[in-house]
Amino acid sequence: MKKLGKYSIGIGDRFGHQGHAQLKAITEAGKKGIEITPVWNKSNREHLIIGTRPHDVRTEADFVTGSAGFIKPYFVDADHINLDTVDQFMESSDFFTIDVASYIGKMADENEIVKFYAAAEKYTGHIEVPGIEEGLRCSPDQLMNIAGNYLFAVKKAGEIYRKIESSKGRGNFITEVSMDEVHQSQTPTELFFILKMLAEESVPVQTVAPKFSGRFNKGVDYSGDPLRFASEFEDDLMVIDYASREFVLPESLKISLHSGSDKFSIYPHIGSIIRKYDKGIHLKTAGTTWLEEITGLAEAGGDALAFVKEIYVKSLEIIDELCEPYTGVIDIDRCFLPSSDEVSGWNSRKFAASLRHIPGNPDYNQDMRQLIHVAYKLAAVKTDIFFRLLVEHEEVISECVFDNLYNRHIRRLFDID
Ligand SMILES: [Zn+2]
Repeated sequence: MKKLGKYSIGIGDRFGHQGHAQLKAITEAGKKGIEITPVWNKSNREHLIIGTRPHDVRTEADFVTGSAGFIKPYFVDADHINLDTVDQFMESSDFFTIDVASYIGKMADENEIVKFYAAAEKYTGHIEVPGIEEGLRCSPDQLMNIAGNYLFAVKKAGEIYRKIESSKGRGNFITEVSMDEVHQSQTPTELFFILKMLAEESVPVQTVAPKFSGRFNKGVDYSGDPLRFASEFEDDLMVIDYASREFVLPESLKISLHSGSDKFSIYPHIGSIIRKYDKGIHLKTAGTTWLEEITGLAEAGGDALAFVKEIYVKSLEIIDELCEPYTGVIDIDRCFLPSSDEVSGWNSRKFAASLRHIPGNPDYNQDMRQLIHVAYKLAAVKTDIFFRLLVEHEEVISECVFDNLYNRHIRRLFDID
């Protein structure tokens, strides 16, 4: 069976130009003793907005790793796919993030619920989970609720998994199941039974993306109580460890953190908890690369700065349209967005500093950063100019991409000096 390494990061980029710089960050971590498996990921949503095809991501990943002489494993993730969208990713991907969010809350067949209940009934009452002091508790009623809420979704995951398996062959790809893009977070008890359901469906899930409490907005820090997150994360980790043994799931099963870029206030907690238990993690960060392209172009000045100002001005005009596909994963306070007039007078330093995520820098503007994060569509309709600028200013942009991924993300998460 293809196995994902202990540490892995979802990289890749909207426009496919920054693979080298990201791979360099991964290689640099390797030199410091932290082996990270790169996973190029791009969702159907991004492909649709930009007009790229899944095959393009495979081409980039193969080209970048090939030319860098990178001989360790890497993967191409069909991110957030479901039954309707999986087909087009079949050939180019060897990692599939099966997204069941839209199926959660739908009721499974009554017979299926009865069958699952019978298989899981022995876990009602008190469940002793090593590492969780009080263990977990689940009443028969709660178990019925969990089955009502999640069984249909997991059955769908099974259906999607089997479709992929029949096309790619057993063991030839990594399976992730994601349920992060929903309103309600899942408790450790729910996660425990969801894993039981996945085992009953024989889905060899290697990464699971639960929804945690707090907000995981795109490109900005975690919003919520970091300590509460830490205790939830630790409990989930214990649940996964126990469930993978109890239910015969892959022992490499680990947590996948979506919208994982920029969550600087929780990285120290995640890092210390995974080190404490010697566990792995998958962190998805791909979207942040586009922000570094814009930051780099701002720094470059001249017509590159003019171009990014134009993107920003236009993004203010069509803000509703840009934000719509991302409700639930962005929180933009429009009062704090600088006006077009204001930004037109900015120099390189001011624009780059407003965008760059340096906590505590008075120029840093998280509302502007989130808006630009979802504004990549505006560059997608101007690729002739945009790509020319990316090539012209490759050096400064690569440096931004590398610095962001290595210094701000990898070093913080893995505690590298
Ligand atoms: Zn996600």
